Amino acid sequence: MKNQRKKNPRLLGALGKNFPRTHALAAGAASFALALTLFVSTPEVEAKRTALPVSLAPAEAVSPAVAAAEEADAGIAVEDARSGLRVIEEKVRNGDTLSDLFQRAGVSSAEMYQLLASGQEAKQLAKLAPGEELTFQVDGDGNLQSLELHRDRLSRVEFSRDSGDEYNYALHQREADRHSAYRQGEIKSSLFVDGGEAGLSNNTIMELANIFGSDIDFALDIRKGDTFSVIFEEEFLDGEKIGDGPIKAVTFTNQGKTFNAVRYTDSNGDTSYYTPDGKSMRKAFIRTPVDFARISSHFNPRRLHPVFKTRRPHNGTDYAAPTGTPVYAAGDGKVVRAGYSKPNGNYVFIQHGDRYMTRYLHLSKRLVKRGQRVKQRQVIGKVGSTGYATGPHLHYEFLVNGRHRNPATIVRQLPKAKSIPSSEMARFQAQTQPLLAQLERFNQPALAQQSEHGESSGSTN
Ligand SMILES: [Zn+2]
Repeated sequence: MKNQRKKNPRLLGALGKNFPRTHALAAGAASFALALTLFVSTPEVEAKRTALPVSLAPAEAVSPAVAAAEEADAGIAVEDARSGLRVIEEKVRNGDTLSDLFQRAGVSSAEMYQLLASGQEAKQLAKLAPGEELTFQVDGDGNLQSLELHRDRLSRVEFSRDSGDEYNYALHQREADRHSAYRQGEIKSSLFVDGGEAGLSNNTIMELANIFGSDIDFALDIRKGDTFSVIFEEEFLDGEKIGDGPIKAVTFTNQGKTFNAVRYTDSNGDTSYYTPDGKSMRKAFIRTPVDFARISSHFNPRRLHPVFKTRRPHNGTDYAAPTGTPVYAAGDGKVVRAGYSKPNGNYVFIQHGDRYMTRYLHLSKRLVKRGQRVKQRQVIGKVGSTGYATGPHLHYEFLVNGRHRNPATIVRQLPKAKSIPSSEMARFQAQTQPLLAQLERFNQPALAQQSEHGESSGSTN
């Protein structure tokens, strides 16, 4: 604590000094990101109609109604020529209750209560989310004959009236087609910008950052010229892409050092990421104790990387980030101090086992209390500028046996990650080596192509 009081004013000088350097880093020569999709034979995108339930009338009969209704963003009502039932489509809007939807569909609330009372399964109708769709089928007397709930493209819940007044329940689940995709790119501004340019979704970029979260500080260590390549799954339904599945294998080269990871489900059914030689990617500490995605989302080309390292004799690392950016516990532990002091502002100290402590200063908000147990990546506070701070930033300290250490340079002293047990090594290798070989094969021709076109200038280091 005494220590802290002395050192903090020096931070103020360091803040200003370092901006020009990061700025210079930004003004960069051109580099490029390369994106390839393999295996995926650009499937024809089907008409929007396929999103509607199969129980609808023949396509020719409904399409004008569908088109009109979609334009007006209103419910759809058509008469099924074969069954004589009216088919009404309603999309759940913000704040809608089930009664609102029944009312819009013109079905009486008596019908609704009868359906809700028909069984346990009907209770799920009470929990609707915006964007979900309901399909009502109503006979000539206004009696509900069936109701379908479309939670998403893959699941459809159906309630259909039997000969009496009871409803039968059926859950129809579809499987997405999964294809492997490959993307690669080079960092020229930030992981989010260049990952996006290479064709990775935000979710996949977050996944990549989490996989390497103990090895790379994605807020501070990323440099222009870093490269990444990813094999992940893409999900298709009826030939239309509906989302991304998990990363299967991934490479990140940071400042010349290459990290590889591969996804593996062990014999207990637990899925995790490992190095090619079977060490878990999940370690006792993560390197970036702030939500750096939030930093990137405030991306400003005039002030690239609004994050900086400070100079000695500063006892910690500073992460400049907008006020309110979530601050994470770097590892599992116990909050040993949480309070306010004039130099530190709002602060939280976390003890991890006997040897390690992490400290988080200048918070705008503390979200944990003394004595509380926390998990790695749990949000413990928000970035602020309380105490001796010129602007919003997190001052982060890492202590080993009471001494300040740089978490980047004491990796070997940190607790070892779990490894695949030798009894399971053969299984691990049989499953992961084909993927790693595939990743390597993909990387090779791309590099060759890159130099052939002479566009790799500046990426040699
Ligand atoms: Zn600091």
